[in-house]
Amino acid sequence: AAKSQGRGNFQFFSAEMNTATHERLLLENRLWQALEQNEFELYLQPQIELASGRIIGAEALLRWHHPELGMVGPDRFIPIAEESGLILPLGDWVLQRASHLLASWRAPGLEHLRLAVNLSARQCHGAGLLPHLDRLLDTHGIDPALLELEITESAAMQDPERSRALLVELRSRGIKVAIDDFGTGYSSLSYLKLFEIDRIKIDRGFVKDIESDPNDAVIVAATIALAHSLGLGVVAEGVETQAQRSFLRAKGCDEAQGYLFARPMPVAQFEAMVRSESMAGADLSPA
Ligand code: C2E
Ligand code: MG
Ligand code: MG
Ligand code: MG
Repeated sequence: AAKSQGRGNFQFFSAEMNTATHERLLLENRLWQALEQNEFELYLQPQIELASGRIIGAEALLRWHHPELGMVGPDRFIPIAEESGLILPLGDWVLQRASHLLASWRAPGLEHLRLAVNLSARQCHGAGLLPHLDRLLDTHGIDPALLELEITESAAMQDPERSRALLVELRSRGIKVAIDDFGTGYSSLSYLKLFEIDRIKIDRGFVKDIESDPNDAVIVAATIALAHSLGLGVVAEGVETQAQRSFLRAKGCDEAQGYLFARPMPVAQFEAMVRSESMAGADLSPA
């Protein structure tokens, strides 16, 4: 049976491959120029303090304005950038841009904002990260406590000893560290034992079915309690409904981000949102 199906499957597979390969080539060919051509942009997604409903900061999320493909999301090009090595200069660009932003936020109404930046595995394990960060913090006179670096479990676990050393260095500078996509790795609990961190970000996969799946509800509630008893803050990712928001707030989750509050947006729009919120003294969305 395998043999008789083989040919059709092969043809189907190879057509798919061609589209995927074609797109990959379009992305890959352009990726190195894209940095010089200024085709990248940082979008910001607000992070909301659940108790007050106020914006306490943002996560920086990379976007690429590709001349032929239009706006391309990071899930499509970060893996290619990782493989090709471009992730190192690209990651440096992101940190530099983030530092400029934090420096520009020393303005009335914006000075409390924290900025979270995603780190890739290669950035974490390369030697250039700490010197680059030191230079940026120093040049821009940034309060390190307003910078948060997000590392996924899988990135950190690629080289646990190095990651552990890196996190110690980051935290000794006062930079905050969050574990991204918490719960999706194979070793979430050993992670908490091994690494010094400030916050965990509960993955969207657990938040999504809080209302319908009693197991997910229990896992999320227990994760919040566990994090708090270890002295860690908790951010919930991918909050899309009022019911999810109410559940998380009732369980004591500190912060949330998600489409319910806002999608990732250009910097100017985010700043306008923060300013209008503080002028209105308003809660971002009704309870
Ligand atoms: P992440 O760090 O876990 O970021 C959260 C992702 O969830 C973002 O996707 C965000 O737009 C999306 N999201 C936020 N709220 C909701 C929601 O309510 N519903 C749904 N369905 N999605 C939501 P995005 O921007 O496409 O980024 C994807 C991933 O790419 C990020 O996952 C992060 O791992 C990576 N990434 C983004 N920017 C950077 C960067 O500057 N450097 C590195 N190394 N990785 C980055
Ligand atoms: Mg993240
Ligand atoms: Mg995440
Ligand atoms: Mg993710």
